[in-house]
Amino acid sequence: MKLYNSATRTKEELVPHQPGKVGMYTCGPTVYHFAHIGNLRSYLMEDVLEKALRWEGYEVTRVMNITDVGHLSSDADTGEDKMLKGAQREHKSVMEIARFYTDAFFADCEKLNIKRPDVVQPATGMIDEYIRVITRLLDTGYAYLAGGNVYFDTSKLARYYIFSEHDEENLAVGVRDSVEEDENKRNKADFVLWFTKSKFEDQALKWDSPWGVGYPGWHIECSCISMKYLGEYLDLHCGGIDNAFPHHTNEIAQSEAYLGHPWCRHWFHVHHLNTNDGKMSKSKGEFLTVSLLEEKGFDPLAYRLFCLQSHYRKALTFSWENLQNAQGAYDKLIRRVAALTGEGETGGPEAEALTARFREALDNDLNTSLAVTALYDVLKAPLSDAAKRALIADFDRVLGLRLLDRADALREKEAARSAPAALSEEDAAVQALVDRRAEAKKTKDFAAADALRAQLAGMGVEVTDTPQGPVWRRV
Ligand code: AMP
Ligand code: ZN
Repeated sequence: MKLYNSATRTKEELVPHQPGKVGMYTCGPTVYHFAHIGNLRSYLMEDVLEKALRWEGYEVTRVMNITDVGHLSSDADTGEDKMLKGAQREHKSVMEIARFYTDAFFADCEKLNIKRPDVVQPATGMIDEYIRVITRLLDTGYAYLAGGNVYFDTSKLARYYIFSEHDEENLAVGVRDSVEEDENKRNKADFVLWFTKSKFEDQALKWDSPWGVGYPGWHIECSCISMKYLGEYLDLHCGGIDNAFPHHTNEIAQSEAYLGHPWCRHWFHVHHLNTNDGKMSKSKGEFLTVSLLEEKGFDPLAYRLFCLQSHYRKALTFSWENLQNAQGAYDKLIRRVAALTGEGETGGPEAEALTARFREALDNDLNTSLAVTALYDVLKAPLSDAAKRALIADFDRVLGLRLLDRADALREKEAARSAPAALSEEDAAVQALVDRRAEAKKTKDFAAADALRAQLAGMGVEVTDTPQGPVWRRV
């Protein structure tokens, strides 16, 4: 599979360290609030990538962290811890907030048919590991202590800026934008590995360390969690584009300084979902969550289709109108799939050609919109319904639109609607007598017909003969 690699800025063949196996790391959510559908665009496209790799036969191990400590309001290590802010907002403990929003995150993922990663590791569960790695970085001169915090010394690296043309001057502008400049840093780009109480008194979760009671920085968690579960050589690292700097840049700095060799080969970044008035945010404007989409009557999978229709490396603009169009397309797609019947047939060379086209789309930098086009081509192809269903089921292992499930559910619903309503036992008994009376009349056995009418009257049922046959009602 050819995939754009942000580290080399080219489309490259994904070459795992071990043939046939891909170690995949994904930066997980900061669980201080619901995820917005922008965050979920990143997870959704990463999910498609994982499914595409599995579809192509790779054995994938996917690891995700849950950030429940250390992510400050500004990515430049300033401001309050986001978790603490969440806890204060809701008058709950940090751990309660973490549990609640972790569950909410996976509930949203389930609705969008995003598979749960093989390993999900909360940051607070790995403190000993951070201490071990930071200790080594101090021992080898890559880190230093200042004002009670441990910092990474970016000047010790031959190359720090991996993804961008950032330079000291640009960074200085970024720093000026934030509330305070950290006087302890030797270089503008240095970042915190471990905070101690000397600087952030109000942090709720703190642990003992060789440098005082404190808590880890955000970046160190991803380095340690990925190395613990995926080893010293990582194949693929994913995240939203805003994570490239400083988060992923810092991850590389720490990991390679610690390991003493190159760490991750391939970097996959999903570009942002924006609204018409700019970047999506949890604090300003309408807070776009999966629940809000549902409240407005949308199927979360229509949002999935909306994301698949455009490339992950382009910014995507969300509007209710765009989503409405995707919902319309999704409903229509389901209706077309529901019209297909039959099982257990494959389509021969025609089907193989369609599968090849689908694979080509995936292999060309995960071109999901072309992959969706290949799905539409299946519907139009000169194949039997059963062969079409088989191909759709296969493609949907990657697209994740639950097409056959939804189509079968639609068929059942429509069958139930057109079938006559089932009669209760009593009504069925009445209907049987009414039918016998009609039969008696037909054979001109009027005595029997009258007796049956009398019997029905005794049960409180009145029969009227109409041109369409007898109708009855309880009186
Ligand atoms: P957070 O929970 O803030 O750590 O972010 C979770 C993920 O969502 C990260 O991978 C971010 O890069 C990504 N992300 C944040 N905002 C957006 C957006 N508007 N569109 C797409 N991805 C985003
Ligand atoms: Zn991360």
